[in-house]
Parts: sequence; structure tokens; C-alpha cells
Amino acid sequence: MDISYILNELGEHRSEYYHAITPPIVQTSNFAFETVDEMRARFKDEYSGYLYSRGLNPTVDILRKKLAALDGAEDALVFNSGAAAIFSSVIPFVQSGDHIVSVSAPYTWAQKLFDLFLPRYGVQTTYVQGTELSEFEAAVRPETKVIYLESPNSWDFRIQDLRAVAAFAKEKGILTVVDNSYCSPVYQRPISMGIDLCLQSATKYIGGHSDVVAGVLTGRKTMMKKIFDLEYLLAGNGIQPFNAWLLLRGLRTLPMRLDWISKTTRELVTFMKSRPEVEKVLFPLDPDFDQFELAASQMDGACGLFTVILHCRDVNKIERFCEDLHTFKMAVSWGGHESLVIPRCAGVPRNEFNPDNVEHRMVRFYIGLESPDYLIRDLIEGIQRLA
Ligand SMILES: *Cc1c(COP(=O)(O)O)cnc(C)c1O
Repeated sequence: MDISYILNELGEHRSEYYHAITPPIVQTSNFAFETVDEMRARFKDEYSGYLYSRGLNPTVDILRKKLAALDGAEDALVFNSGAAAIFSSVIPFVQSGDHIVSVSAPYTWAQKLFDLFLPRYGVQTTYVQGTELSEFEAAVRPETKVIYLESPNSWDFRIQDLRAVAAFAKEKGILTVVDNSYCSPVYQRPISMGIDLCLQSATKYIGGHSDVVAGVLTGRKTMMKKIFDLEYLLAGNGIQPFNAWLLLRGLRTLPMRLDWISKTTRELVTFMKSRPEVEKVLFPLDPDFDQFELAASQMDGACGLFTVILHCRDVNKIERFCEDLHTFKMAVSWGGHESLVIPRCAGVPRNEFNPDNVEHRMVRFYIGLESPDYLIRDLIEGIQRLA
């Protein structure tokens, strides 16, 4: 399906709302029925139509169709956060005694799900680096139900061979889930590589303007219905119509934003690689990246996140460098219009800073929609002070 068709037409029934170009925000909690029979049918299968907006809603449905098509999936559910999408990608498919294999250091709240939440219900997780298929082969057990992937990881961009892991899991009857937030469906389509469930934080590139928190999960219709029928309705963590409308608005410009961001990012990566203050730049589509060939074989592009490892061993200097940047805001998240910086040492107690640990000398940048020159001007001055 043509991406222009998906973003501009798919799911939009304009004759139903005055031929308005922009869909209405159907801000209603409930929907009325004319006959008891219709109501009875909806009670029996809430996934078949509108009953109550904790379930389906027409504004959200337009978004679901577009997001499913972007991923090449049969169906999509949209949540009020990426974390809710993570939760709903795993919980419906495990029970006490089951086992999960996950890539190590996944997104913080996936890690907390595996380390703190699921053990309370008798579900254990084994972590693997994930760069070799043999690690997955060695880690699975008869009771393994889910293989959880994140490719690339959003700090060091470590990736997994999605086609190989999906084929192995299929053979074993194990469900595969991947967090695709870094690439977005524009640059990577895991479903087409055989992955069962694809999730992303829509807070990032889909929203794109740092004004909405949301998450997406796509996959086969039977799986989405299973999730919807219990966990989605039970947790009540579906997206609200206004936030769905904001995501529809974000989607209109998604390819252009990503195109701009990825071009600017390459300029910034080149700049950083040329700097004597920088030991290493981590960026998955940089030819010097450890897994460059695999990245190039499964990703059509890479976006605005890259990490630099600084030579500087002085935590005070690293902190000052980040604090003194003006056009780069110091903040979590990414995917919006504004460029960001986050030092890894912000997550380390100050007295535990250890310059021998390269992670402590990592600074992650996100490149937004500003011009490359504007951003480089800000960096040049500050980075010299790291010498
Ligand atoms: C931000 C993020 C999430 C969580 O999404 P929220 O919308 O913040 O809940 C999940 N995975 C990755 C890789 C992220 O960057």
C-alpha cells in the first residue's frame, strides 16, 4: 500500500462527516442502539463495533487502520502510552510457570515488567545480549512463551537479526515481540520479517511534536482481539480520542520529518566523529558500527538518536558540557521537533561515577527539526571545553 495513500486516505470516511478533510474528535463515552438485538450483539463482541469508548471509538479507529497498514499488519491497538503497549504485548501470553527470553537492557519499563512485576506471578525472564541467534537457542526452555526484542536498543543501538530470531521462534511455537520505537514503521517493518507483535512508543516519531504520550501494538487480528477482549478493556489503557487525533495530525508529516531528521543526524554524526574529544560514536547505520551490515540489511533508515562516548574522564566537565548547551534541551524522550541531550551519568549516583566504565562517559543526542548548522554551532563551543 502506498504510504501517501495510508497517511492521507486510509480509514477516512469523509462523506460521514461533512467532507471535512480532518476527521472529527468523537469525544463521547458511549454509543446508543436502536434495538435490543443490536445491543445484545455488541455485548457479545465488543470488538465488532462501538459500545463504549474504553473499547472502540471512531477517531481511534481511523488511527488504528493507518498504523496497522504502516506496519503491514492485519490490525493495531493504540494505548495511552508505549509502556501500556509493552505491558499488553506480554501479559496476555504468559501465566504462572512460563518463561520469557528478553534482550538485555531493554527499555526501562520492559525491564521492570520482567524483573519486578512478572516474578510476582511466577513468570521468569532470561536475558541475552541478542547479537547471535545461538544465544536465543541456548536460552529457550520448554516453558518459554515469549521472546522479547528491542532492535535497535535506544542507547547503544544493539540489534537482533529479526528474520532469524522470528524463524527460530516460529519453529518452537514461541511468540516474538519487538520494540520498534527507534526505527518507526517508516524505517523498519518487523511484521514483514516474521515477527508476531510489533510495538512502538507513539510518543516519539508518530506524535512527533512532544505533546502526546501514546503507544502502538500491531499484529494478527486474532491476537489483537485476544488482547482487546480482556487486558485492553480490563486495564482501560486505550488512547483517548483527542490524543488519537493528535497522532493522526502527526502522521501526516511523518515521512518528511524522518527524512529531515535522518539527514541532519548524519551531518551531526560526521561532525562528532571528526572531534578529538570523542572516543566513539554509536549510530546503527554508520559503517563503523559493530553490527552495520545486519542493520543495513533490515533497516531502511536510522533516525535522530546517536550516542557519543567521550574521552573526558571528569564528571564535572561532562555535566557542564550538557548543561551549557542551549539548542539541545536536557530531557528524556525523543522523536519531537526539539533536539535533546542526555548524559548517561544522570542515571548514576555522583559518587559512583567511574570513568573506566565507558557507559558512564556516554552522552546521547536526539536530533530534531532544527537546521544542522544551528545545532553544530551550539556544540562547537561546548565540546572544546571537554579537552
Ligand atoms: C519511550 C520508549 C518507550 C515507552 O513509551 P512511552 O510512550 O514513554 O510509554 C518504549 N520503548 C522505547 C524504546 C522508548 O524509547
